[in-house]
Amino acid sequence: MSMRMAESTFELMLRKMLTLHKILISSSATHIFFIQVEYNRSKQTPSTLKGHCMKSYRKELSFNIPSRRGFINITPEVDAALRESGIREGLTLVSAMHITASVFINDDESGLHQDYDQWLEKLAPHEPVDQYRHNDTGEDNADAHMKRQIMGREVVVAVTNGKLDFGPWEQIFYGEFDGRRRKRVLVKIIGE
Ligand code: ZN
Repeated sequence: MSMRMAESTFELMLRKMLTLHKILISSSATHIFFIQVEYNRSKQTPSTLKGHCMKSYRKELSFNIPSRRGFINITPEVDAALRESGIREGLTLVSAMHITASVFINDDESGLHQDYDQWLEKLAPHEPVDQYRHNDTGEDNADAHMKRQIMGREVVVAVTNGKLDFGPWEQIFYGEFDGRRRKRVLVKIIGE
């Protein structure tokens, strides 16, 4: 049997095996990976693989919180960006573009947000502003830098079947610690 014939027989076998995909799941993960990779290679020429290349989408959200501190649920905005991207499988990054604001994931529960605010204010009280060396520069937002550090810069959410693949009750929030001015959040979505 020539090498070419052997390969096409192998491909046929793989295709048949893939129809038994559910049965294959019970074998080892390494084995399934091998089968899947070989199948994809046999099905797609390099050019169509290129056509399937990762898409990317970028959007900036903008906020102007009228108070020094605040939390807002930005899940609807991220959801809208995902729909605009047309991406069905991939990853979404949502990051605060300012060093005195955060993006984080947690529960949309107002008591919890009050608890965060009180906890952060205990850890890094805004007043007195002269307790911070950062404020020696004439700024008054050292506490906001610290609050941002502990609440985080960004989140990554998996995109599955065109939707944000959250765990129970997970929502995305923008945390403002030095507001009353326009600030931005980056949404970057990659996938296909
Ligand atoms: Zn500062």
